[in-house]
Amino acid sequence: MNQPVTRSDPHPSQHEATNRRVLLAARPTGLPGDDCWRFEDVALAPLADGQVRVRNRLLSLDPAMRGWMNEQRSYIAPVGIGEVMRAGAVGEVVASRHPGFAVGTWVSGALGVQRVATVDPADRASGGLTAIDPALAPPEKWLNPLGMPGMTAYFGLLDVGRPEAGQTVVVSGAAGAVGQLVGQIARLHGCRVVGIAGGAAKCALARDVFGFDACVDYRAPDLKAALKAACPDGVDVYFDNVGGEILDLVLTRLRRRARVVLCGAISQYNTEGQVRGPANYLSLLVNRARMEGFVVFDYAARYPQAAAAMAGWMKAGQLTSREDIVDGLDRFPEALRMLFSGANVGKLVLRVD
Ligand code: NAP
Repeated sequence: MNQPVTRSDPHPSQHEATNRRVLLAARPTGLPGDDCWRFEDVALAPLADGQVRVRNRLLSLDPAMRGWMNEQRSYIAPVGIGEVMRAGAVGEVVASRHPGFAVGTWVSGALGVQRVATVDPADRASGGLTAIDPALAPPEKWLNPLGMPGMTAYFGLLDVGRPEAGQTVVVSGAAGAVGQLVGQIARLHGCRVVGIAGGAAKCALARDVFGFDACVDYRAPDLKAALKAACPDGVDVYFDNVGGEILDLVLTRLRRRARVVLCGAISQYNTEGQVRGPANYLSLLVNRARMEGFVVFDYAARYPQAAAAMAGWMKAGQLTSREDIVDGLDRFPEALRMLFSGANVGKLVLRVD
């Protein structure tokens, strides 16, 4: 785990004849079991005009995948039964009938949980294909600070949270993909940053590696007292990745005109009954505060702006990131579950063998 992918395969499999892919076989109840998936090896068809064939190298494992498995209306259509599971990925072009993507180019896109993706970059519905430069940053960074979590942290914090220098920003999931970046971006904007994470080791990571001012362990006894001690003057921005009881507690610490950014609610994604809503919402009224959700895809036109800012901070040594790399496509089912037990430390990535 955690071994960076720093160079391309010297012999990219230009002549892969088959594709191993992971299909959604059944909709889950609660935590997705192994029975939700079907592994399949299929022969690859010849490329059509305009198509590009990508050998996936790293897959992004995201909490959102749990939502895509449900048959319900959301910001994106659910994955159909029998379809390849949706996933962001980076990989190498191994064959191309598209003038914009030469063989050997590294790319990112919604390439799916599979070894080889065949894509039509002109098909906008598929999310397109973007060339990336592995010389600028190793491939796994394009799934974290330079990829979707980076865009989420950047726009969620700066556009929705609107932090000001000197204010206190609290972020849950502090050692995870989005959380680690939110905290660092807030620090770069002169804020005092308090993380919330599961366990002493993740809190130490948030403080010592990501530079948070404080981090509270929600698994330790008396989170309420710990949060109060860490935020004696209250909370100006709460970037919520987890929802549930933690959201409810942070609501009790809001300052006047606070902003609560609803990024995610991972504590609720496997709930079989009713999702738990915040009981302490009147704190919004009393404090003239605001709570607002957002979906990162709405910012797609501005990704280059955010990516340039993130790359600049990385180059200047002002922003770092941690990825947690699990090896082997066949480990997809167990790796996905790591997100919900907190077994991942940093951005969870699956290396495709
Ligand atoms: P992540 O933080 O890297 O991984 C998930 C983490 O959530 C786990 O490591 C675990 O950390 C924590 N967690 C799991 N179950 C929990 C529970 N019951 N209570 C509290 N914490 C729990 O994941 P990520 O990719 O950065 O995503 C973070 C959140 O952002 C998710 O809710 C995701 O859906 C959301 N998101 C939203 C958007 C958007 O456009 N709105 C885009 C990307 C991501 P601990 O060990 O600390 O518990």
